Amino acid sequence: ERPIETLEKAIKGTQADRDRIQAGKCVVHWFKCDTRITDNKGLRLASNTAKKHNVPLICLYLISPQDFEAHLTAPVRVDFILRNLHVLKGDLGDLNIPLYVETVEKRRNIPSKLIDLCTTWGARHVFCNAEYEVDELRREAALTKACLETGISFNVVHDSCVVEPGKLKSGSGGPISVYSPWLKKWCAYLNQNPNELDKFPPPDKNARIARSKYSELFDTEIPAAPASKQLTEDERKRFHSMWPAGEHEAQNRLHKFVLERIAKYHDTRNFPGANGTSVLSPHLAAGTISARTLVREAREATPVKKLNDDRKQGHSMWIAEVAWRDFYKHVLCHWPYICMNKPFKPEYSKIEWQYDLDQFSKWTEGKTGFPIVDAAMRQVAYTGYMPNRCRMIVASFLAKDLLLDWRMGEKWFMEHLIDGDFASNNGGWGFSASCGVDPQPYFRIFNPLLQSEKFDAKGDYIRKWVPELAEIQDSRGIHDPYNRGHGKLAETNGYPRPIVDHKEARDRALARYRAGIGRK
Ligand code: FAD
Repeated sequence: ERPIETLEKAIKGTQADRDRIQAGKCVVHWFKCDTRITDNKGLRLASNTAKKHNVPLICLYLISPQDFEAHLTAPVRVDFILRNLHVLKGDLGDLNIPLYVETVEKRRNIPSKLIDLCTTWGARHVFCNAEYEVDELRREAALTKACLETGISFNVVHDSCVVEPGKLKSGSGGPISVYSPWLKKWCAYLNQNPNELDKFPPPDKNARIARSKYSELFDTEIPAAPASKQLTEDERKRFHSMWPAGEHEAQNRLHKFVLERIAKYHDTRNFPGANGTSVLSPHLAAGTISARTLVREAREATPVKKLNDDRKQGHSMWIAEVAWRDFYKHVLCHWPYICMNKPFKPEYSKIEWQYDLDQFSKWTEGKTGFPIVDAAMRQVAYTGYMPNRCRMIVASFLAKDLLLDWRMGEKWFMEHLIDGDFASNNGGWGFSASCGVDPQPYFRIFNPLLQSEKFDAKGDYIRKWVPELAEIQDSRGIHDPYNRGHGKLAETNGYPRPIVDHKEARDRALARYRAGIGRK
């Protein structure tokens, strides 16, 4: 049984008993990756229930250092999560709603901590939004039953995806593993059910709450990051100015993007120097904005009110990209074994990978001698973010040119990205290494030089991130300095020679892939 089915069964199986539970002294919303008050389904339902029973709403966030380790959460992302909590606490405080924050050292103690707190507060109704990783689905299924045994109604709702996993089925009734037909169904579903894009208003103000009674909850401090996830002073300053936190920032970013850039998105999105994308992924990953909000606002900004898969129009192209996020979360629910280090395509598990740690280090440090790869790797190290086109280039380079196990790259990305998200990251790596769901065919191997010439034609992106090459004004030479007349300058400035020959690497990859999957 898939974990998502276990959860659905637990929800359905306990519904009648949960409906009978009395008011209690308060209602609790448990925040996870949904740290916002606007357009948050679980939070709104919690607020409705509090109103119905005429009791206050209390909000809770449990920090788990072990979860950060288990999910390989990057320090820049941990810092972003904690800063988002400060904004959330302020926003909730304005509504007279406390946000109680506590650190739980061992992740296995989260369920008992939640039940203990609810018991202490006299809460009988708890709400949260579902997360789709295997452990989280299993935990929430178990919590639904465990809470009921103590007389608490635990309510898990679907909010993170625009279309709930399980709603879209193939002609034969099964899940869909190819993006294009899936996208058609996704658009059709939302066109038929337009209310799925309705906005959930922020929670109501807590009218009857004696601050003195709840002062302990209002006064909790948001802790610093655990020791293993601390930033240096330099990083702290940089990331704080680069990545302002909170849902207001996310909304401003969205409005600006929709106003100024979305119409040209289909033309500009692939050019890393063009600033053509929304850069909302850190906020989506943290839950400071909802994917539903993105789709609704993009749709409202175009005269075409029906969603469609027209990739030649900025708004629909962007909505289709937001849909990729849903697609990969659906895939995770339907094929949960991808959470266990296995490729989506089992026949690709026999490919013989290299484990050359020296080459891996050169990739991580941006010292491969391929300027576009190095620029992208240095950008992510400095900012925690990399544009999608560059993610595809560096991932293909790792898996195919270096023949390194794609899981090494997948892990490294999670450890460094501010927007690290298991489903999208695993999906992106599987696509690039050709062993994921609906991937690039294995024989399509990006040529880093051609990618560089096409998507950074003038070389501005390279100049920005690879200072050793910044003096090269020649827009041909900058992509391949050692073979195009700038070897001396590159060498003097300490820029490395290419660590592989792309043509040889390509032939080696094709042979290795063919041998692995048993093709002639
Ligand atoms: P926009 O182009 O403005 O798109 C809007 C939103 O749509 C994004 O914020 C994102 O939520 C979603 N989206 C767009 N493209 C994709 C895509 N290909 N797959 C899934 N969702 C998409 N995205 C993450 O959020 N977290 C990751 O850990 C992650 N790892 C990746 C690893 C690899 C190897 C690859 C190839 C892609 C990965 N992506 C990941 C997807 C994509 O690169 C980023 O979502 C995108 O670059 C974020 O920039 P943006 O917000 O400006 O996107």
